[in-house]
This record gives sequence, structure tokens and C-alpha cells, in this order.
Amino acid sequence: MKKIPRIGCVCEKPDLSADTDFRSSELGIHHTNGRYAKVSILQCKLCQRIWINYLVEYEHYSRSGRWYRGIVSKKERPEITPKNAIEFLENLEWYLYGGSYFNSTGIFGQGKLNVDSYML
Ligand SMILES: [Zn+2]
Repeated sequence: MKKIPRIGCVCEKPDLSADTDFRSSELGIHHTNGRYAKVSILQCKLCQRIWINYLVEYEHYSRSGRWYRGIVSKKERPEITPKNAIEFLENLEWYLYGGSYFNSTGIFGQGKLNVDSYML
């Protein structure tokens, strides 16, 4: 399990306007189990840390949208692909997650990602 310091930066406490705190670039789409997940790289404009963001939504189900976001080092960044992003996140000491499914703008979590269920 990889230790990641919490530094209290805005990127650790996302709110609804959080998108403006990041520079983002698309990494790709992950298709598995009929899932259509967007994987992107976010860099915090304040602390410059890089986050892997995994966003999944089932468009026929309301309140199914959710994202998971974890910090990745510059060195590891090139190794992350849409395919291994979930595994990477699940092995972090902590990540942030949120979205309409969780009715949250972002809270700390760890362990298994819940990406396949769309019923509460
Ligand atoms: Zn930050």
C-alpha cells in the first residue's frame, strides 16, 4: 500500500466548482461490463500534484454518476492506462470519491471501487 501525504490542499476537498482548480487531459475510455468510463489526468493548479480520475455514469439511470480520484507520482503517471486505472486506485492508501451516486462532492475512501452497480 502506497503512502500518500494529505496536505490539506483544495484538491483534497473538492466542491462543485472544483473543475477550475485543475488542468485536465483525457487518458481514454474504459469499456468493461458495459461500462463507459472516462479516465483522465488532473493536475492541481495549486500543489501541482497529479490525479488519476475515473468517471463512470450509466446514462439510463439517474444518480448513477460517480468518480474516483487518486494521486499518482510523475514517475508512475506514464504507466497508468484506462485499463489498469481501477487497480491502481484500489492499491492507494486513500483516494477521493464522489458524484450523484454517492450524493457527494468528494470524500476520502480506500479499497475496492464500486463502479458496476447503479441501484442504491
Ligand atoms: Zn492541490
